[in-house]
Amino acid sequence: MPRANSQQLSGWGRFPALQHSVFTPRTQADLHRFIRNNDNPKTIAFGNGRSYGDSALSECIIDCRKAQNYFIDFDTQQGLLTCQAGVILDEILKVIVPKGWFLPVTPGTRFITLGGAIAADVHGKNHHQAGCFSAYVTDLYLLTSDGTTVRCNQNLETDLFRATCGGMGLTGIILSATIQLKAIASTEINQTTHKTQNLEETFAVFEHNQSSPYSVAWIDCYAKNKSLGRSLVSLGEFSEDGPIALARKKARTMPRWFPSFMLNAWTIQLFNTLYYHRQRQPVKTERVHYERFFYPLDGIQRWNRMYGHKGFIQYQFILPKDTSFEGLQEILKTIADAGQGSFLAVLKLHGKENNNWLSFPLEGYSLALDFKIQDKLFPLLKKLDQLVLTHRGRFYLAKDARVSQEVFERGYPNIDQFRQFRRTHNMHRHFNSAQSLRVGL
Ligand SMILES: Cc1cc2nc3c(=O)[nH]c(=O)nc-3n(C[C@H](O)[C@H](O)[C@H](O)COP(=O)(O)OP(=O)(O)OC[C@H]3O[C@@H](n4cnc5c(N)ncnc54)[C@H](O)[C@@H]3O)c2cc1C
Repeated sequence: MPRANSQQLSGWGRFPALQHSVFTPRTQADLHRFIRNNDNPKTIAFGNGRSYGDSALSECIIDCRKAQNYFIDFDTQQGLLTCQAGVILDEILKVIVPKGWFLPVTPGTRFITLGGAIAADVHGKNHHQAGCFSAYVTDLYLLTSDGTTVRCNQNLETDLFRATCGGMGLTGIILSATIQLKAIASTEINQTTHKTQNLEETFAVFEHNQSSPYSVAWIDCYAKNKSLGRSLVSLGEFSEDGPIALARKKARTMPRWFPSFMLNAWTIQLFNTLYYHRQRQPVKTERVHYERFFYPLDGIQRWNRMYGHKGFIQYQFILPKDTSFEGLQEILKTIADAGQGSFLAVLKLHGKENNNWLSFPLEGYSLALDFKIQDKLFPLLKKLDQLVLTHRGRFYLAKDARVSQEVFERGYPNIDQFRQFRRTHNMHRHFNSAQSLRVGL
């Protein structure tokens, strides 16, 4: 059986960076043997490291990619795909798109594993219509702490399914899953971008266009006063005609030596102003390849280096609909006043909450912001935490690197059921991440 290596690892935000023992099973048999014999309670699965904080970090990490990277079955008539959990969504797209199928829900990067998509129960720009990834998982196989493999889905072992989807690896190792894909007639998206003058207009575009399958806004979070919340809101839908083709553009790589001091309040503010004004007309329509629409950040590999070796925090929260407008106004004002804006500020509309115990989305609006790590950031984030709680919001584990237990648990009313389920099934003695210990899961 391969031995574990000691390595310094971090999530996508490069914060925190911790020393770990990394075990990389080469085969399924290695993985099963390791789980049966492992007695370190601080053990967690690692997918492709695209969660931003410490969800996939622990004293002992199981890197699932090598032992679990096979496609098992693809029913091209029904659009049902079964593969092992270490397969990356990018590889899935290369197989399914030429056959006229697409992922029913996709996050803003295609470089995550199937296991990571299920463990975080990821959402996309279509949550208001389509819900989370788990809604399309028709079957799932999980390796539990006693070394047995359990099948679960929406009708079988339902509590295990509810705990595993969104459960951030804390119920065991996802081995494989079957997902229902979405049929597409073209790989092009009809995109309409509305340039709004303030938050009120931004909300109006979202609310009036709920029939649009995909929607997302980039917010200029340096804008103040009358322009607070001004945005570029993009709406999209797959075209009914056009080519079916994978994109051919090669991604560039962010150099290791990128001078992170170039990313400061002044340059970010300048970037935001230029980016906002790059669109002159109030409404612009165009046809774009799905890669440009769904995965703009994947165009530059290792873009996280831009923030330097100290890294950055992605701060993502969601507010219920009735508090969203007021809450976002207050939060955006606090950020703009602090002069610590982010150039990546993404607002999404979400539909109904599902019944998984720890899934993030609820009916309302979520905002994700990237902040470069510097001493003055942490007091600002503490202030924002309180504003999110005042407006009955919650934080996303897949992005989090720092919230306290007290702040986290207030957002999740089903958290005690999740904890109890883990205790009943002895999972808490086997699977724990740095994050789960910090937020008390
Ligand atoms: C640029 C970018 C854009 C993003 N956009 C979105 C978005 O729009 N929506 C969204 O929801 N998320 C988004 N994310 C977050 C990302 O989708 C999630 O963090 C996802 O979980 C990462 O998957 P991964 O395979 O890299 O897993 P990792 O980051 O390695 O792990 C994430 C969690 O999954 C668990 N896990 C991984 N594999 C397994 C397994 N086989 N069995 C059990 N548990 C496992 C880990 O223990 C950990 O808790 C984005 C991330 C990036 C970098």
